[in-house]
Amino acid sequence: MLFTENAIIWIRRVAHLPVRKRCHSASIGNEILRSLEATFEQFAAQEMSKRQLAGFACRKFRLGSTCLQIHCRFRASRPWLSLQDSVTVCTFAQWLRITAFALVRRFGICQLSRVLDASQRRRTGRSIRGEMMRYHTPSSFEDASAIAAAATGVTRFLAGGTDVLVQLRSDLVTPDDLIDIKLIAGVRDITRRDDGSWRIGAAVSGAELAEHEALIGEWPGVVEALELIGSTQIQARCTLVGNLCNGSPAADSVPAMIAAGATVSVVGPEGAREIAVEDVPTGPGMTSLGPGEVVSAINLPPRGEGGGDAYLRFIPRTEMDIAVVGAGVNLSREGEAITAARVALGAVAPTVLLVEEAGAALVGSTLDDSALAALAKAAEAACRPISDKRGTVEFRTHVAGVLARRAAKIAYDRAGA
Ligand SMILES: Cc1cc2nc3c(=O)[nH]c(=O)nc-3n(C[C@H](O)[C@H](O)[C@H](O)COP(=O)(O)OP(=O)(O)OC[C@H]3O[C@@H](n4cnc5c(N)ncnc54)[C@H](O)[C@@H]3O)c2cc1C
Repeated sequence: MLFTENAIIWIRRVAHLPVRKRCHSASIGNEILRSLEATFEQFAAQEMSKRQLAGFACRKFRLGSTCLQIHCRFRASRPWLSLQDSVTVCTFAQWLRITAFALVRRFGICQLSRVLDASQRRRTGRSIRGEMMRYHTPSSFEDASAIAAAATGVTRFLAGGTDVLVQLRSDLVTPDDLIDIKLIAGVRDITRRDDGSWRIGAAVSGAELAEHEALIGEWPGVVEALELIGSTQIQARCTLVGNLCNGSPAADSVPAMIAAGATVSVVGPEGAREIAVEDVPTGPGMTSLGPGEVVSAINLPPRGEGGGDAYLRFIPRTEMDIAVVGAGVNLSREGEAITAARVALGAVAPTVLLVEEAGAALVGSTLDDSALAALAKAAEAACRPISDKRGTVEFRTHVAGVLARRAAKIAYDRAGA
């Protein structure tokens, strides 16, 4: 009975998968699946053994692959179902095909199990093994942290969801616990403190940031970096914190935040702490945040007089693309002379880089040609990019120098305005 019920659930799952995924998992078409489903439903009322059921399916549809699908689907979660059980009534040729396929595509079968499991969870909130995806709406960061700390499976925080939900839809990540932080008080607030520093709540979207004139006046580079992300729809959701914690080396707002000297407020099982943005990413998709740690806000330092920042990126088209190289520059000047500078580069190393030598190349200068040349040289020297279809090592390295120079010029002009 258990087998029959689960087989029906499984067939429904496969029938609803997009064609691309269905092809991966099933050589049988929708029509047969529907027919098979009806057949299984008909037998669901009866005490039919799994062996009888598998045999029946084989005979009725002359499809060894049907059994294979059943086998693939259940092997991970139903160890008691052996290959023999599912193909007993097959012809020898079918059995041979199934066995060979199962061996050769072992990894693919695991993938199939994962894809089906994720799809089922998405649809029903329950995995094939009966586990629920738990959706939490804590009312404080302490609660959010406690939930995350107690979780044993895959955990994700939900800020804007423009990374998490896309990963979930494409079956890349299926969280056991999804912790939505948007109901926490103050999470969408942008506050200017008495000392002139800024606190940007963890769920403030790109659109909200872009409408904040006072913030734009002081930190235009940070705002323009977040504004580059995605489309109007994405802007309504994406956040600085999500962009940072997703851990992409090409994340647009991260070089701008690092150049600005931004920090993050973190709440965790051990209490609260504040860390520099550049210390958060540790590799592609990875951060230094410990289990149960959640970011509550981004902090920008007081802008002060004579400061300016800028962020530029190179993409092969005008929008909706990932940075091939990104450069953020933040500097302060007294008169014509630069008194402090920070330069950060994105998409040229496993994490966004703070290039201290590049900042140092600007300090004391009036952004003359030699300072710009030294800046470009330092930026290029820091690059450790990969070559891929979007840019070679040489191209990325060269563009890093070019963008650093251009961003420095914009920041310098803004600082003097
Ligand atoms: C169509 C499209 C275009 C895009 N274009 C760009 C682009 O041009 N440039 C770019 O950089 N990105 C782009 N992105 C990626 C994405 O929009 C950004 O990374 C965005 O800033 C993520 O923010 P979010 O709030 O949606 O994050 P979420 O999806 O909510 O979360 C992302 C990650 O951060 C973690 N997280 C969220 N909140 C917290 C918290 N408070 N504490 C700890 N961890 C947390 C989550 O667990 C998750 O791992 C694009 C995405 C889409 C779908």
